[in-house]
Amino acid sequence: MVREVGLRDGLQSIATVVSTAHKIEWINAAYAAGQREIEVGSFVPARLLPQLADTAEVLAHAKTLPGLVASVLVPNFKGAERALECGADLMVVPLSASHAHSLANLRKTPDEVVAEVARIRALRDASGSRTLIEGGVGTAFGCTLQGEVAESEVLRLMQALLDAGADRVSLADTVGYADPASVARLFGKARALVGDRLACAHFHDTRGMGLANVYAAWQAGITRFDACLAGIGGCPHAPGASGNVTTEDLVFMLERMGVATGIDVTALLALRQRVAGWLAGETLHGTLWQAGLPQNAAPAALREAATA
Ligand SMILES: [Zn+2]
Repeated sequence: MVREVGLRDGLQSIATVVSTAHKIEWINAAYAAGQREIEVGSFVPARLLPQLADTAEVLAHAKTLPGLVASVLVPNFKGAERALECGADLMVVPLSASHAHSLANLRKTPDEVVAEVARIRALRDASGSRTLIEGGVGTAFGCTLQGEVAESEVLRLMQALLDAGADRVSLADTVGYADPASVARLFGKARALVGDRLACAHFHDTRGMGLANVYAAWQAGITRFDACLAGIGGCPHAPGASGNVTTEDLVFMLERMGVATGIDVTALLALRQRVAGWLAGETLHGTLWQAGLPQNAAPAALREAATA
């Protein structure tokens, strides 16, 4: 229910290149802490994102961990071919609901991305692979380049992705324009349209509303959220975008609300410290690590405290 995207969304937006050995250490520790969904990288040309050049190797390791859903981002057909070759459990195909952002980021219109998803689905079916296809609708709440993105357009593209053969879809506030009211409205409409096939919410904390937006989506029935350890992440083509919802803060909030995540927040805080050591000089985010856990919330007692 909490998908770690720090190794993809996080690392792609910062200059430091984390070694393959450290990425594997990160995945192992996240797995030991109870995380069962991790986006391990992106199949893009290494010259565009040298930070993620070792995605195939990292994915091969992630696949050795029983019960771990290892996902990758694939920006196009070529990336999807590699994801299928490497046996990813899930591939996320990003689509930008903002036409301006789509052209800048993917060099395609949103409808051209929909057509690409249809080709990817045909390839997947022909190969006999079981890799799931998730269409990730980004800039769903607005865009730095275009400004307004119409709800009707987001909903149309979401439905088009499913019609083209995506197994499920997610909605992303790529640049931190969402607020709890707009989240409740859009996720409510989207759920009414496609039900549980809307499988994930992806929020950036650019303007401090990340967790409030998670809560609004939770109330609209969403139970799976993307998050980055230490709140790293952003988008190189969306100026101003920085910081995904912070994994450790999100897990703490959910557990505090009585929602079992299966994740040990103390172990996450320890992992955060380790990862911070590899990212010296980079800006990290999050608040729990500064304050620590409250006195009445020894980790094992978190849920009991919430339900007492
Ligand atoms: Zn993102």
